Amino acid sequence: MKASLQNAYALDIENVFKQLDSSDQGINSSEAAERLAKYGLNVLPNKRKFSIFLLLIKQFQSWLILILIIAAIISVLASHVTDSIVIAAIIIINATIGFTQEYRAENAISSLQKMVVKTAKVMRDHQMVSISSSQLVPGDVVILEEGDSIPADGRIFYSKNFRTLEAALTGESLPISKNENRLPEDTGLADQKNMVWSGTFVAAGYAKAIITSTGGATAIGQISKTLTEINKDKPEFLKKTNLLAKQMSVIAIISALTLFIIGYYFRHLEIKEILLVSIAALVAAVPEGLPAIITIVLAIGARRMAKKGAIIREFNATETLGNVTTILTDKTGTLTLNSLTAEKVFIPENSSDILVSGEGWMPIGNFLQNGSIIDLEKHSGLQKALEIVAYSNNSDIKYNQEDESYQLIGDPTEGALNVLARKAGLRPEQFSDQKKDDWPFNSKVKLRATLTKKESTYEVGLIGAPEQLLERTQFILKSNKVVSISEEDKLEINKKIEEWSNNALRVIAIAYKEQPEKTLHEDSIEKLVFVGLVGMIDPPRKEIKDAVAKCNKAGVRVIMVTGDHVNTAVAIAKITGIIDEGNEHQTAALTEQQLLKLNSNEFHQAVKNVSVFARLTPQMKLKIASTLQNQGHLIAMTGDGVNDAPALKRADIGISMGIMGTDVARENSEMVLADDNFATIVKAIEEGRIVFINARQTSFFLITTNVAESVTLIAALALGFPAPLIAIQILWLNLVTDSLPAIALANEKGQDDILENDASLQNRNHILNIEVLPLLTINVLVMSILSLLTFQYYLDQSLDLARTAVFVVMSSTQLFNVFNLRSIHKSVFRIGMFSNRYVNVAVLVSIGFTMVISQVPFWAKIFRFEPLDWSHFTVLVFASSIVLIIGEIYKLARTRFQKIRK
Ligand code: ADP
Ligand code: MG
Repeated sequence: MKASLQNAYALDIENVFKQLDSSDQGINSSEAAERLAKYGLNVLPNKRKFSIFLLLIKQFQSWLILILIIAAIISVLASHVTDSIVIAAIIIINATIGFTQEYRAENAISSLQKMVVKTAKVMRDHQMVSISSSQLVPGDVVILEEGDSIPADGRIFYSKNFRTLEAALTGESLPISKNENRLPEDTGLADQKNMVWSGTFVAAGYAKAIITSTGGATAIGQISKTLTEINKDKPEFLKKTNLLAKQMSVIAIISALTLFIIGYYFRHLEIKEILLVSIAALVAAVPEGLPAIITIVLAIGARRMAKKGAIIREFNATETLGNVTTILTDKTGTLTLNSLTAEKVFIPENSSDILVSGEGWMPIGNFLQNGSIIDLEKHSGLQKALEIVAYSNNSDIKYNQEDESYQLIGDPTEGALNVLARKAGLRPEQFSDQKKDDWPFNSKVKLRATLTKKESTYEVGLIGAPEQLLERTQFILKSNKVVSISEEDKLEINKKIEEWSNNALRVIAIAYKEQPEKTLHEDSIEKLVFVGLVGMIDPPRKEIKDAVAKCNKAGVRVIMVTGDHVNTAVAIAKITGIIDEGNEHQTAALTEQQLLKLNSNEFHQAVKNVSVFARLTPQMKLKIASTLQNQGHLIAMTGDGVNDAPALKRADIGISMGIMGTDVARENSEMVLADDNFATIVKAIEEGRIVFINARQTSFFLITTNVAESVTLIAALALGFPAPLIAIQILWLNLVTDSLPAIALANEKGQDDILENDASLQNRNHILNIEVLPLLTINVLVMSILSLLTFQYYLDQSLDLARTAVFVVMSSTQLFNVFNLRSIHKSVFRIGMFSNRYVNVAVLVSIGFTMVISQVPFWAKIFRFEPLDWSHFTVLVFASSIVLIIGEIYKLARTRFQKIRK
């Protein structure tokens, strides 16, 4: 057997099986394990190999480093050789901090990418199982259905109405019909209609294929070897912060120039000295760490989201999520548990509903009528209904030995019907030989159909949304006879639908039709015979009500968009609080039919005011989404099917389902919900807001410390003092003392009321705005004035001592300022001194550094400090706390003032 079979399209299928040593039943698991060991995992060769070396190089690739190197050279010329060594050391320490941080961020990103595991349905040991796509080997038989991603290259040997989307491979955007017919040897790749390709998707239909190549041997694997690395767009947010960094740099250059001009032309300081100080001040004032810190904030945010079940596929989305103003969510699975259970059956000839007992996917239960168990033999109508739901069904119910539970493979609606049939002793498998054609559920026509062989004819069994089936119905099955359906019959059926859906039941209709043809066609789903209705419950998830309430408080609108019946939708919307039960004025819900009748103005109004849209097709979902966007909303939208892909792409944040959704939906989304749960979306929005707040606060920290240093230096020279710090002291302060606390601030967890406090969300386009300027200005002034006073106080004793004192004050005020900036509005004592341990550790470490380099004689000599008396050292550190005290007073006054204004 070969690792890969290249000409499978041109071979007879029997020959393909032989070459791959397999059959239409696939291979067994021990053989698969052997092949896996031999041919390797089915994964694409990873082009974007992350290189530690390159990351290290990157740390030195900045013009800042260049300037520092110039500074080091000037130091040598000024015969301060130790200084140049210190500068070199600072460059290395700074690069190390930068490196470890970016390494962590990079790791966080790549582990996120690993979280979305793709699975494949494959035949192993004569059974269909679901395995990770990476485990596929040549010779495996895979089952492909609507929405699946194709896990490896394969040759089709059975197909029904099968179409694939190959845009990823060929750029062709329309679905391509495929079948199992053998093709001539000279057929080009794009025309090999009997092959499926890894990386493409199933648009419709059903097929079985035998895997011919996996991993790097697949067509896409071959291409990706020649492709350059995938281009990742820079996050929008990073662009914003980069702009801020640029603006800050301009200010830095201006202040460095000012410093030089004052020092050289007015104060006539020695050129080498003032040049060094100016360069140091320039380096200090440039917020070179900002973009890296923002990346870290985003990475931390994405990791936290992942822990809560929201897996970010696009880094951009991490911050965008915080800005979402409207969530468009579907109902089934997201708001509800998706553990559908058929509870009631309605058969026209019966006077009362048939109740079904049992719970979940466990296929054990009874059929009851008027309180007693019924004899299925005597209920021909019910039997017919059960038979149809059993064969017109692609789901599977499996018993899991390990956790002793039943599990569903496939669609939950079909799963519920599968369980229903099993409760009567029928199994979908027993019809597999009779099944001749199958149209899987299609969300546009909202029904599914299967063709089976009967003695002399073929029978089409249909299940689907009741309106859709009734529209196509001409007959009704009553007491084993097919008769024309009367108006009264329809009235009775509609009354039943109305009654059940008002009680939040999902209602499915069952119908059939006989035909002589052995394939399904347009006519197969017309002139049907109505058989009955099934009502299934799908309980809402418990946590939804709270999550919806949170959204309301946060000013985020929740809109339900569903394919289900309007009454079921409204019932669930009421239970979950999406519509108020009390509010009579609210137009509760609209269906697609009603929406189609509106003119564009009315449509706009409807989208503005209505919170439940029912019986929607994916196109209408898309239209609602784009209308909302035109109204200025930033929308997050859920989707699970093939048809949802355009809407997911269109939404600012497309959200797909980790458990139930299709691969197509996942590939087109920004975020995947690991648990399919609406409440997780709200948690992710919360984290998104924290990301924004942290990025801001970290930037503010870097800005205030940088500005305070520049102001102190310029003011000192302007006032006739010598330079209060020498170059290496400034550099150390900036590149070492500040870095750790900044990183620590990026880890802030956010306070409980993130979603309620929307004040911080105004003006989100700018990081720096009027609102925060007072606090920042106060901080800068306090830091500078305190430093200058200290300098003046010690200057009489000796210049080196005065510089030491200024250094101690500068670093301590900056560290106290970290606590100011843990929250812009709230007192640090209210959010808890110990609620961010990173900050406390970083501050302690930084104080330790300050102590060592300023007080330990060996280091002090290198940095040209004159160790202070310990009592003085302590007093200076305590005096520095004034920056925190004044910050607290400001916050208190501000809160008071705001209360008065209210
Ligand atoms: P949603 O996921 O928003 O509840 P869908 O578009 O999946 O809505 O389903 C719409 C309607 O189509 C359902 O109310 C049900 O009547 C019917 N339906 C859904 N899934 C299936 C299925 N697999 N087979 C048959 N009918 C289905
Ligand atoms: Mg659905």
